[in-house]
Amino acid sequence: MNITSVGVIGGGVMGRSIAVDLLFHGFQVVLVDLSGEILDAAFQEIMRNIRFSALVKKSLPLINPEEAAQNIQLTTVLSEVGQCDFIIENVTEDWAVKEGIYRKLDEICRPEVCFGVNTSCISITKVGSVTGRSGQVIGMHFMNPAVLKPSIEVIKGYYTSEATIQLVNQFLALMEKEAIIVEDLPGFVSNRVSHLFMNEAAFVVMDQVASPEAVDRIFKQCYGHKMGPLETADLIGIDTVVKSLDVLYESYQDSKFRCCPMLRKMVDAGRLGKKSGQGFYVYG
Ligand code: NAD
Repeated sequence: MNITSVGVIGGGVMGRSIAVDLLFHGFQVVLVDLSGEILDAAFQEIMRNIRFSALVKKSLPLINPEEAAQNIQLTTVLSEVGQCDFIIENVTEDWAVKEGIYRKLDEICRPEVCFGVNTSCISITKVGSVTGRSGQVIGMHFMNPAVLKPSIEVIKGYYTSEATIQLVNQFLALMEKEAIIVEDLPGFVSNRVSHLFMNEAAFVVMDQVASPEAVDRIFKQCYGHKMGPLETADLIGIDTVVKSLDVLYESYQDSKFRCCPMLRKMVDAGRLGKKSGQGFYVYG
């Protein structure tokens, strides 16, 4: 199947990031979210990041933001993705929300269309099971900023077919990315490991062992990581990190995934990280 148009459901941190990547690679995008206000903010950020990404990654094709704007449709009506060739879903990390979306997508989309689930921890098999096309449901764990990442973690649900994996490989090749394929267990590889890291770093700050800056500097300057664990938590969104830790805790029934109380307190205070302007750090 030829993929030319992609329905991107959810225009938050990841929906925006993936829309930028798709526009750079010539796809038509239909971006769905709950309100015109969210979509307007998403559109402004997408246009800003089209300009910025071309400066950071010189190998990206030169595209004019005005032309890119012609290739994105913004809507609050989910059924408008009905003609899309592929779906990438990025709604809130909440099973009840995702379940409702997939039940509707299954009715709206053509039978041959595959669904790429962008989730931190929710089971791809469980998502597949609420559709009549579990063979065509696959995890696509993009990382932010998507356009700058050469690979993504691709998750095979219990019923994901070989044909779907092949299609996703072809699609990702058009986006100049490679798939790293893993099996479906909560948190997959990336989040099962990285959330332990971010959570323990939050405990370290809560216990006043070190400041956020000192924690992050140790990982960047001593280990050579590009970003520290608390900068990463801010970039992902503290609310998303908390939701993912809760899913991991519930799934494995293992106390190592118990969420640091300070992270919950930050969410209560609206300190969600970069997206709210303040998390462990303040953003200008
Ligand atoms: P976010 O909170 O920034 O955005 C979620 C968006 O979904 C919001 O704009 C919200 O309005 C929208 N939404 C909620 N219900 C909806 C509905 N019924 N219809 C349409 N839109 C709806 O979250 P995010 O960080 O973009 O994460 C999205 C998904 O991607 C989550 O499952 C998350 O675990 C996963 N993920 C996040 C990251 C990251 O770095 N933030 C990385 C990889 C995967």
